[in-house]
Amino acid sequence: MLRIYNSLTRLVEPLKPIHEGRVGMYVCGPTVYGDGHLGHARPAITFDVLYRYLLHLGYKVRYVRNITDVGHLEHDADEGEDKIAKKARLEQLEPMEVVQHYLTRYHRAMDKLNVLPPTIEPHASGHIIEQIEFVKKILDAGYAYESNGSVYFDVEKYNKDHRYGKLSGRNIEELLETTRDLDGQTEKRRACDFALWKKAQPEHIMHWPSPWSEGFPGWHLECSAMGTKYLGEEFDIHGGGIDLMFPHHECEIAQSTAALGKETVHYWMHNNMITIAGKKMGKSYNNFITLDEFFEGTHPLLTQAYSPMTIRFFILQAHYRSTVDFSNDALQAAEKGFERLTDAYARLMKIKPSAESSVDVKGLREKCEEAMEEDLSTPLVISNLFEASKAINAVTDGKATISETDLAELKDVFKVFAIDVLGLKLEGNGAGDGNDAKYKQAVDLLLQIRMQAKSNKDWATSDKIRDELKAIGFNVKDTKDGFEWSI
Ligand code: ZN
Repeated sequence: MLRIYNSLTRLVEPLKPIHEGRVGMYVCGPTVYGDGHLGHARPAITFDVLYRYLLHLGYKVRYVRNITDVGHLEHDADEGEDKIAKKARLEQLEPMEVVQHYLTRYHRAMDKLNVLPPTIEPHASGHIIEQIEFVKKILDAGYAYESNGSVYFDVEKYNKDHRYGKLSGRNIEELLETTRDLDGQTEKRRACDFALWKKAQPEHIMHWPSPWSEGFPGWHLECSAMGTKYLGEEFDIHGGGIDLMFPHHECEIAQSTAALGKETVHYWMHNNMITIAGKKMGKSYNNFITLDEFFEGTHPLLTQAYSPMTIRFFILQAHYRSTVDFSNDALQAAEKGFERLTDAYARLMKIKPSAESSVDVKGLREKCEEAMEEDLSTPLVISNLFEASKAINAVTDGKATISETDLAELKDVFKVFAIDVLGLKLEGNGAGDGNDAKYKQAVDLLLQIRMQAKSNKDWATSDKIRDELKAIGFNVKDTKDGFEWSI
């Protein structure tokens, strides 16, 4: 049985879905006003592995990952210009052009990382009506107040009936005391109150009509509204980066409890952060490396390009609840590790079985299963696969033998755990375009035609194929049994 760490209870608990055989999961997706960076890759890959594992266990999964395209303000959740609207204003674009531009790039990066698309990807801007209805429910329940066309959540009032801060472990008394309003001119009663609806200032170009003002929803609201719309008033798993735990997820719990009178989410899961040389990623540290820069090796902090599969493997080598520190050394080690695994897999595919096995592949499947079941321990799965790689190498080096049954079992364990669950592309060059194997076959085919041309002394055709492949970036080398190529 799958056991996962629940941030709310701070315990590793068995997953007991609300509906038998079905799991509903919601993950906070990206705010699309800039290119995806390494920090975006981690939650995407963490919850992709959870999604893949649930599918492997036979669950039907409704996986909702939202797109924040409105209400993410510059200074904090409640103040400043909308980040997307600002970019649109500066570049004279429609806000939805900004959203579409970065969303397309995000999807492309996710495809390269072999992250499966969620089953629903709702946009905040497409759910304004649902968000207004949600605000009405919170107002009706008495946990919000209107102030000058905006609506704020009343944290102090809520905390009298429920406990605000239970997810992040914040002490509300302290919070009420330390969050004094600085200028005394704010519309909020308390600095820790947060916006459910904001009246649009004249410079705001994204706004909608509401009973309170022409305005826009507060950032935290979209996840409560869209999560319950698609997954029901109670659903199984809510995930996201640990940086979202406070205030975002804390506010989500408060909103849903205030509006619906009950706890919506059964399991809260958070992935830890990626640091760069021990520092948080951020514009101010100049260590904000986008995924495309990783794939192309174009950031000054990078000594080389790293393939999407190297990035994926690097992230999966750590448990999702540990921090991961990026460095060129660590990524180069991941690149080598991943290469060892792909080499072993290629050898595995070519092994001819013997009558007897002298290697032990028994129990490998159970070990991988147990590792995943104990809070998704991907590093343990990888170390089991490395153990298996040693056995594969022993067989291909003639130091051991493997029977037909054991060989089939070993191939299946690699398929299930490395390819299906961890989502690693073990075939091809890891370029990650989803067609690696076919593309490799096509290049091989061209080079076979070249071999034929050579044996017919048709030098013109042979040279043409080599030179034109070279022009697009392929190195072709003749060897004594044929050819080799690389990019
Ligand atoms: Zn969210």
